[in-house]
Amino acid sequence: MKIEKKYAKKDKWILRFTGISPAIINGLRRAIIAETPTMAIDEVEIIKNSSAMYDEILAHRLGLIVLRTDLDSYVEPEKCTCGGVGCAKCTVELTLKAVGPGYVYASQLQSKDPKIKPVYGDTPIVYLEEGQEIELIAYARLGRGKQHAKWSPGHVWYKLLGAGEDLESIRKAEQKGEYEVYLESWGQLKPKEILEQAVIQLLDGLKEFKSMLKTA
Ligand SMILES: [Zn+2]
Repeated sequence: MKIEKKYAKKDKWILRFTGISPAIINGLRRAIIAETPTMAIDEVEIIKNSSAMYDEILAHRLGLIVLRTDLDSYVEPEKCTCGGVGCAKCTVELTLKAVGPGYVYASQLQSKDPKIKPVYGDTPIVYLEEGQEIELIAYARLGRGKQHAKWSPGHVWYKLLGAGEDLESIRKAEQKGEYEVYLESWGQLKPKEILEQAVIQLLDGLKEFKSMLKTA
């Protein structure tokens, strides 16, 4: 197998794989979208909200804010020693306090961990009229795209190279196994981190399968 980097610019990579089966390349794509953990706001405690936006919509918007993710310092709540209740190893607290008039932006979220903060600070959260205010505490945790799309690390797709319209030429191209993979990160992780994590998750899944077979 051969991997060539055809294009790499900040959050977007195009890779060419040669000598790989469609099953593996698709397994990698699925692991990226659904199994690669990233950080996102998962719980919000609203102290004050006199904006025109309902609490639920405000919480939903906060959940979609892209947070830079540090996979070395955090574990997923289900795997944490606290049992998922929330502790410094699995949860980051972010606070937000704002008074109108004006837009409230993602950059105004104050994170307890400077490494876990919004990637795009100019994301608007809510508009406050004169006298309106919000005050809240948000809790960010690691999760996976299969739980909610907000935890997906990016967009990925691939195409088989050298295939024509007819089945025969598609089969021949598949035997050659040349694929171009397009990977665009939403910003929580770098493209390389996404690929490394997807491989780790795929291998973990296989290890689990192997151990289940032993007891089957
Ligand atoms: Zn914990």
